[in-house]
Amino acid sequence: MKIILSCILLFSTLAYGQISSQELTGQTDNPKNLLNTSAQDAFNTMRAAALKDGIDLKIVSGYRSFTRQRQIWNRKYKKYEAQGLTPDAIFDKIVEYSTVPGTSRHHWGTDMDIIDQSATYSGDVLVPNKFHGNGPFCKMKDWMEINASSYGFELVYTLNENRTGFKYEPWHYSYAPLSRKLLQEYLPETDFLEFLRSQNIMGMDQISDARLLRYYTEHIQGVNPSLK
Ligand SMILES: [Zn+2]
Repeated sequence: MKIILSCILLFSTLAYGQISSQELTGQTDNPKNLLNTSAQDAFNTMRAAALKDGIDLKIVSGYRSFTRQRQIWNRKYKKYEAQGLTPDAIFDKIVEYSTVPGTSRHHWGTDMDIIDQSATYSGDVLVPNKFHGNGPFCKMKDWMEINASSYGFELVYTLNENRTGFKYEPWHYSYAPLSRKLLQEYLPETDFLEFLRSQNIMGMDQISDARLLRYYTEHIQGVNPSLK
């Protein structure tokens, strides 16, 4: 408990602009996993408008805490470690689809994964082909392309071969008026390295600075330019 408290105290002394390091890394006290109020309000307004067009927007993943993301990370890390992969290989494999704890935009309460619950669907919902062709969420995607930005929402991981980092996610939207500031004020590189190495995240004592900084540039910064 002492160790945990000292970490909290250390990072509570760091603040980037108006935004605390806890808020940037998903370590605020948010037991109900609530979205930021402004983002939730904007979503509710957008949802009401979409409903009039027969689309029932549903958030399937909103706020996610650092602790939750670390559970996901450490579970995957152990699985790949048991398969004999090196720490670098494990890191590269996990960050194809998952974020390093402390770096998820879901920590910010501004980002959410959205589907249309009025559609008929089965199985995994967050797969790109459900949003294309004759997929069940095509109608929603067309509607969002036209309307989302007027409510402040932007797709983060766009289908653009010039974008680096995470793969295309047609479901992941961000409330730009807030998340732009959070990205701009995100931990600078040196604090980022120090943070990751102090949080009991598996593998972090073995991954090189260069690899972590490449992730910083390609993944954290590898978003839709309208969110920068
Ligand atoms: Zn997401």
